[in-house]
Amino acid sequence: MISPVLPSYNRAKLSFVKGEGAWMIAADGRRFLDFGSGIAVMSLGHGHPALVKALTDQAGALWHTSNLYVVPQQEALAERLVEHTFADTVFFCNSGTEATELAIKMARKYWYESDTPERTTILTFEGAFHGRSIAAISAAGSEKLTKGFGPLLPGFRQLPFGDHAALREAAAVPDVGAIMVEPVQGESGIRPLPDQCLKGLRDLCDEYGLLLIFDEIQCGVGRTGRLFAHEWAGVTPDIMMVAKGIGGGYPIGALLATENAARGMTAGTHGSTYGGNPLGCAVGAAVMDEMTKPGFLEDVRQKSGFLRQKLEGLVAAHPDIFEGVRGAGLMLGLRCKALNTDIVAAGYEAQILTVPAGDNVVRILPALTITEDEIAEGVARLDTAASALSQKIAAA
Ligand SMILES: *Cc1c(COP(=O)(O)O)cnc(C)c1O
Repeated sequence: MISPVLPSYNRAKLSFVKGEGAWMIAADGRRFLDFGSGIAVMSLGHGHPALVKALTDQAGALWHTSNLYVVPQQEALAERLVEHTFADTVFFCNSGTEATELAIKMARKYWYESDTPERTTILTFEGAFHGRSIAAISAAGSEKLTKGFGPLLPGFRQLPFGDHAALREAAAVPDVGAIMVEPVQGESGIRPLPDQCLKGLRDLCDEYGLLLIFDEIQCGVGRTGRLFAHEWAGVTPDIMMVAKGIGGGYPIGALLATENAARGMTAGTHGSTYGGNPLGCAVGAAVMDEMTKPGFLEDVRQKSGFLRQKLEGLVAAHPDIFEGVRGAGLMLGLRCKALNTDIVAAGYEAQILTVPAGDNVVRILPALTITEDEIAEGVARLDTAASALSQKIAAA
């Protein structure tokens, strides 16, 4: 008989009753160090006092009014996002996938309003992940995401990762209107796009008048040691999706855009009942306030260097298990020789939580507020897990 909860996930037999900073506590009292942050969601750790206060204060005052009215909490968060990014305007939704939906709609509407409605195709990249709606899986295009869910939405063309000639050729096709890319691919195994490539994409978009769309749902909001990952390359997109870390655990997504890119999105063209509700926006504003405090991102970059060095040591100590480290900031990937899911499972035994990804990678995504002592402890636990897995493999 099917379980009461739709069995669409591969779940570990673990559950938690409490979170404290970089720690999660299981029902039996075991304390797990959280190197996954709910897949880059708990950007400021569990139970951050400023976030708890923002949420509970708002919960005591007003939960929902609808977008029939002005929502001051939306304005406060939008102002912060506009102040700290390329964007002129922000739409709030409830998840990353919904932000992707609007990015696609916005790009199509932009060309419709520009009297070239045939420019409906969006170029995307192999290994991409933009969400699980029909539009988002059609955009990513992989068999893993799309098999059995056709007919897919037309209007996307996937390109191989890193093939410049193919990209150049594809951008010149007259039905193309936009390029959509994750500056650091998350789900496919923490694959950062080199700064040169992001610059090249911007140049290509400028050359052909295309919109550049960055999916920073996983790599944004301080994760790479800058507020947004594309800042490392010194280029800006026209449209950007944000979710995960911006809510620090409260479900919220956002679509940021320039005034030009957003010009077709007039009153009545898009909406969301819950999008931009006062609870989520109050928490989002608190997240932004924490991350824009002087020294916050410098601290993330410093801890990133420390974590990376520790992980390099771990890889060197277990050449049978690991192959190398890649990524940026506190978004690092361990390339594995052993099966990544076996390493994650061995981590559970050692009370360290990590996240598997494509390309046989284990993702390391701790809270940005984690301490160096906790990083050292987490890597020590990974070392224990790797040793246990080595023995198991040797015995098999
Ligand atoms: C998680 C993720 C999404 C989808 O976000 P949801 O909130 O799960 O809908 C889209 N793009 C990227 C890069 C992601 O990491």
